[in-house]
Amino acid sequence: MKISVASGKGGTGKTLFATSLALSLSNEISVSLLDCDVEEPNDHIFLDTVFTGSQEISVPVPEIDEERCDHCGVCARVCAFHALAVFPDWVATFPNLCHGCGACRIMCPRNAVIERERKVGLVEWGRGNDIECIRGTLKVGEALVPPIIQEVKKRYRNERSGGFAILDSPPGTSCPMVETVKETDFCVLVTEPTPFGVHDLILAIGVAKALSIPTGVVVNKEGMGNERIDEVCRENGIPLLMTIPYDERIARCTVRGIPLVREAPEWESRFRECAGKIQEIAG
Ligand code: SF4
Ligand code: SF4
Repeated sequence: MKISVASGKGGTGKTLFATSLALSLSNEISVSLLDCDVEEPNDHIFLDTVFTGSQEISVPVPEIDEERCDHCGVCARVCAFHALAVFPDWVATFPNLCHGCGACRIMCPRNAVIERERKVGLVEWGRGNDIECIRGTLKVGEALVPPIIQEVKKRYRNERSGGFAILDSPPGTSCPMVETVKETDFCVLVTEPTPFGVHDLILAIGVAKALSIPTGVVVNKEGMGNERIDEVCRENGIPLLMTIPYDERIARCTVRGIPLVREAPEWESRFRECAGKIQEIAG
């Protein structure tokens, strides 16, 4: 069973939820936590993970063989990301815009496109608290997130056939979230009761619906106000799985890198109950 944990907005408590859910279930079943928040992976801090292996992630970017190129312009026309510009006597490449799709190489009529590897990040794996953690990290200055998330997921697929996987998604509702959430069995949307939280929750629900993934909502910092979350859940036919109160004790343990269920073990049963609801809905 694969559960993705996402949120339209950053700072809503995704990591708090993902790590405490993993710790609550790990006594009973095999749990893997896939940290796909590659711009700022921090689940390992909460799980005390010791990394034991790593792999660099590269994407193929084009280099032009000017001897062969006749500047026909085909490569620039097929590139959906504007990573090439063809001038009468040379071809400019913009590696930072390139997504490594290979279309320019395939379509070049003169075999003038050579591919070279560009490092964009790192995938690492290890264990902590009896939980397997796979973490992706984007290289500083790079912007290409999806290939790293794909490798994190691939690493899990290659190593595992059963158990429970929790995928901690990057915030937002663009490609990185889609890449993380797609092909999971259930998506938990963590939100907070603020106007920004509600606004971004509506966007995230739209993405999960478009991907046809069953969804439930977890409200963090309940008590800050705005009751519209109930309304949004009702309107969209989405269950409210769990609420976590706005509590200084919880905030303090989170900033110190302590999982909620370690600071307050009474929460373990609530997280297990939440996992039970998810399994019931996802079938
Ligand atoms: S498609 Fe090939 S030959 Fe045409 S401009 Fe691009 S690299 Fe040159
Ligand atoms: S590999 Fe794809 S994204 Fe990169 S320059 Fe070629 S066509 Fe564009």
